Amino acid sequence: MPTPLTGPDPSQKVIDPVGPHAEGLKEGRLLVARCAGCGHVSLPMRPVCGRCATVGRAYWIVSSGRGRLWSFVEFHKTYSSTFKLAAPYVVAVIELEEGALIYGNVDAPYADLEVAMPVTARFEDTGHGRELIFTTE
Ligand SMILES: [Zn+2]
Repeated sequence: MPTPLTGPDPSQKVIDPVGPHAEGLKEGRLLVARCAGCGHVSLPMRPVCGRCATVGRAYWIVSSGRGRLWSFVEFHKTYSSTFKLAAPYVVAVIELEEGALIYGNVDAPYADLEVAMPVTARFEDTGHGRELIFTTE
C-alpha cells in the first residue's frame, strides 16, 4: 500500500530562491547560489541541487560579474519607463565565470555581439535604483 502524502517535510529548510539576489542588486552586488555539496552555482537558488541532489545546503556568494554571452536577442520594445537602455537593446543569457546562467541586458549594438564573447557586469543608477547591465569592455 502506498504511503499517503502528508505535505511538505517540516524538517526541510524553506529557501528564498531570489530574494537575497534581488537585495544584492540594490546594493550593487551580483549574488548567485552555490551548492555546499558539490560547488555547483545557479540562479535562482534551488532547494535540491541539479547536479548532486544535495538538499537545502546552498548558500549565496558574490559573483565576479565576469562571464560570456551564451545567447542573445534584440528587443525593439521597451517595457518599463525606468529602463536605462533605449530600444533596440540586447537581452542575453550570460554564463558567469562561476558557472551560473543568468538573464541580463548588454549595452552594445546587437550586430557587434558574438556567442562566447566576454562580458562584464556593471551597476548603473537609474534614479529609480540600481540596474545591472553587462558590457563587452
Ligand atoms: Zn550540488
